[in-house]
Amino acid sequence: MTNTTNLIVEFKPGSIVSNLLMFLACAGESNSRKCTELKNDVLVMPKTQIFQKLVHQKADTIKSVTESKLITCTACSGTGKYDCVAKMYNGDTGKYDPLPAVRMDCQVCKGVGEVDPVVLTARAEAFEAFWCSCGNPSQSSSYVDDNTPDAACSKHHYTCNDCGKVTQTG
Ligand SMILES: [Zn+2]
Ligand SMILES: [Zn+2]
Repeated sequence: MTNTTNLIVEFKPGSIVSNLLMFLACAGESNSRKCTELKNDVLVMPKTQIFQKLVHQKADTIKSVTESKLITCTACSGTGKYDCVAKMYNGDTGKYDPLPAVRMDCQVCKGVGEVDPVVLTARAEAFEAFWCSCGNPSQSSSYVDDNTPDAACSKHHYTCNDCGKVTQTG
């Protein structure tokens, strides 16, 4: 565990300066210390002098600042890795055969194995909002083309006809 202390900075809604501060905060430190942008009004950043100074300077646009520490990522149990298992349709047997697992960086902690609890919750919610988890009882889905306005993602994908969430991308 690195025991990095993060600052969770909540900006006042609609604050224009928040975007500038986010830009400065993200650009001001090396990659390993980059802040994690969650959504427009909340930012998680390492508690370093440069960030503390920025927060202090922009105090008029900030709603609250709280501290938190990184915790072991629950999505990968701290390994930073994730085994992606895909299945391929076999026309001869009419069944889906599993392909060899592909080891990937965990998308929740970005391969680090640790994550801020606030970031963990936000990413878990984003995951839940994007992917179908209803089991697709009707077994029917709809095709959505590349760059369809208001679609869940810009890449072509399939959505579940039962819950409307994404079942497959690409
Ligand atoms: Zn992880
Ligand atoms: Zn579904």
